[in-house]
Parts: sequence; structure tokens; C-alpha cells
Amino acid sequence: MDKTISNLSHFEGQEITLKGWVYNKRAIGKIWFLILRDGTGLVQCVVVKGEVDEALFDLEADLNQEDAVMVTGSIRKEPRSIGGYELGVSKIEVVQHVTEEYPIGPKEHGPDFLMSNRHLWLRSKRQNAIIRVRHRIVKAIRDFFDMNEFTLVDSPMFTANAVEGTTDLFEVDYFDRSAYLTQSGQLYGEASAMAFGKIYVFGPVFRAEKSKTRRHLTEFWMVEPEMAYCDLEQDMDYAEKFVAYIVQQCLEHCQAEFKILERDTGKLESIIPPFPRITYDEAVKILHDNGLDFSYGSDFGAPDETLLAEQFDKPVMIHRWPADTKPFYMKRDEQNDDLALGVDMIAPEGYGEIIGGGQREDDHDILLKRIRHHDLPLEPFKWYLDLRKYGSVPHAGFGLGLERTVAWITGTKHIRETIPYPRTLSRLEP
Ligand code: ATP
Ligand code: MN
Repeated sequence: MDKTISNLSHFEGQEITLKGWVYNKRAIGKIWFLILRDGTGLVQCVVVKGEVDEALFDLEADLNQEDAVMVTGSIRKEPRSIGGYELGVSKIEVVQHVTEEYPIGPKEHGPDFLMSNRHLWLRSKRQNAIIRVRHRIVKAIRDFFDMNEFTLVDSPMFTANAVEGTTDLFEVDYFDRSAYLTQSGQLYGEASAMAFGKIYVFGPVFRAEKSKTRRHLTEFWMVEPEMAYCDLEQDMDYAEKFVAYIVQQCLEHCQAEFKILERDTGKLESIIPPFPRITYDEAVKILHDNGLDFSYGSDFGAPDETLLAEQFDKPVMIHRWPADTKPFYMKRDEQNDDLALGVDMIAPEGYGEIIGGGQREDDHDILLKRIRHHDLPLEPFKWYLDLRKYGSVPHAGFGLGLERTVAWITGTKHIRETIPYPRTLSRLEP
């Protein structure tokens, strides 16, 4: 087992060396404290006059924030201390001494300054905790699909297809022609589902989102399961099981991070299936009953989503949308041809839409008609139409936005803090 701060409980009573950096320090007379960070957590290291040689005791005056240090000492339980353990110092080795003032001090900094120093900001307690929860969410995603016998089938980043029109796409030079960066792996996911049964695509996607919101990045990660022989109802069953599993895994493994983030975990504990399911029509009625001025047939905006989420203590799934609000490939409801068999999942607490998905059109001629109706070029969709010629079956899937999920679970208001190096309309560095 690694000798790290996250593993201290296993080393109680032993003398070990921790390798890290100076996070903070403070002195009170004959005793001083070094708060050490090693990337896995923080620990208070205690230096007592008389118990160590004078040179070590005097080192306090020389130490600066982010000095790289290796600290040796014995580990003891200390409930009042951060993390519940403390290190009684016997030796400190300075690996690199910082001579310039570290840009991120204890004083308040504005978000733009911090984002420009993202390469350093990631060392801060809160940012570090968010990214560690992100890591756990990614692991839970992969474990869920493994346990449920899905195969990971990656889709390409360079595409010739514009899945939902070209306005949000990044166009790039591709030798003597142009290509688009993918905004969703779904079309390939459908082909893969016909080859493997149940699959998932997991990778970055790109959208030229020109609006500045706290929910939109230009590069974000999306996980997209797609299932053959699956209808909208079964798709929603998977979506709620999946999201509940992610939350439960975080509750089991991320308590230290939630404490740093001051996340009210009580709100996460109730995230257990079944989740409420309402139709688009019912959602519109809720908005109208609450006095909102919403016009039937449009997509929900952030305030609408927040109000809808407030009606429930779990994520809510809204299904059966006016067909015009949804992409060409969505199957229509047999009971009402004006409705598409789509579903969005809205997270609680005002974090907005985390999932978009639905059942796909599986009839060749109807799909061809829709591609034409949407004025999309036929050539790049030939292979997609093939899927409806050779053994077409009902199939469905969804896409979950990783960063929006991290924002909700960690209680982070702005999505830019949920990805290590965010890309937005105004930010391409660091
Ligand atoms: P919105 O209406 O909020 O922009 P969307 O309808 O465009 O979302 P989908 O195309 O259904 O979203 O994408 C599936 C999921 O990907 C969304 O539910 C959301 O979690 C996530 N997502 C979409 N766009 C972004 C973005 N620009 N940045 C981060 N996550 C996004
Ligand atoms: Mn969007």
C-alpha cells in the first residue's frame, strides 16, 4: 500500500515518510505545524521544540508555500485534526525550495485569475477534491457498464456527418477536404449496438457553444450507452439505475471529498430508483400551474428546468417531446405522430439537464424521409441508413454529460471547475 495521506489509517503507530508539498504552516511558541499535501489529501505535521534538533525546529522560518518536502514521522490518531490523523515530525527534507511568491495565496482571488492559473489552482483543496470525485464517477461509469455486460466501442472524433446540423460544429481541415469534430458518438453507437448488442461510447465531444452559461463547455465528456432490442421504457430503466449507481458509489468512496466541499450528502442519499417520469405535456402543465410564461413546443430553459426539478427530490425524466424539438433520428410515438420518443433527465437542486436520449427510428423509409425533411446531405448518412436495411431492430440509448454530473454531485455551481483544463468560448489556455 502506498504511503500516502489517504492511506494514513493503515500506518497508525508507524514511522513513515510522506512525499509532498507545503500547503500551509503556522507557529505558536514552542510548537509549529506544517500542513502537508501530497495530492491524496492534507495532513497536519507537528514539530515540537526539544523533541527535534534545533536546525529542524528553525526550518519553519524558511519554508514557503509549495516547497517540495519529504516529511518523516510517526502517525497517530487525532480526531480534531484534518483527516483524523497527525504526523509527529522527526525529519524534513527539502527537495525544492520555492523562492518566488506562489501566485495563489490564502487571500480571495477572482475566478478569471484562478482559471488563468488552472495549472496551479488544481493543487487547491477544493479543486483537488472535485477532480477526485470526477475520477470516482468515471470509475463508477465503467464499472456499471462492465457489470451489466456492455462493451466499450469507441467512436471517431473526426466525422463527415453533422448529426444535428452544422451550427454547433467545429470544422477542421482534413487534407484536401473538411471534417467536423464529433459532437456525439451516437450514430456510431447505433452501428456498434447492432454489432455487439449493448455498447457504450465514452470520450470527449466538441460543440461550438457560442452562449456563455455556467453549464456549457466547448469540449466535454459524454458517455453514451446504446442498446439493441430496447425501447424508450427500458432506456429510462437503464438511465435511472445508472445514475443511482454513480451517486451511491460516490457516497461510499468520496466522504472525505464531500467534507472538503461541504456537500450536503443527505440530498444525494435519496437518489434511488425509481425516478419520477413525466411527459413533456405534464411538465408544461407544471410550469403553467406555477405561473411561468412558457410556450408549448419549445425546449426548457434553465429557470424552467430548475422549477421542474424542485417538484421532486430525485432526478426527473421528461419524455415524449414535440417532434420539432428533437433530432431527425428520433422515433415517433405510435399513439401520436407529433411526439418523439425522447427523454431528458433533469438533475435536482438546479443543476439542469444531465441526460438526453431516446428511442431511434428503425424504419429505413421513414428515416430517409426525415433526413430529406431536415435538408441534411444524404451521402454521409448512407452507412447509417444501412443499419435499417440489414436486421433493423428497435433500439435506444442516451448520452450523459460527465461534467454536469460532476457539478451536481459535488455541488459545484460552475461547470468549468469540473474538468481539469476547461475549454469555453473565451478560454483555450492553460
Ligand atoms: P442543453 O440544451 O443543456 O445545451 P443539449 O440538449 O444540447 O443540452 P444533448 O445534446 O442531449 O444536450 O447532450 C447530452 C448531454 O450532454 C446533456 O444532457 C448534458 O449533460 C451534456 N451537455 C450538452 N451540451 C453540453 C456542453 N456544452 N457542455 C457540457 N455538457 C453538455
Ligand atoms: Mn446544447
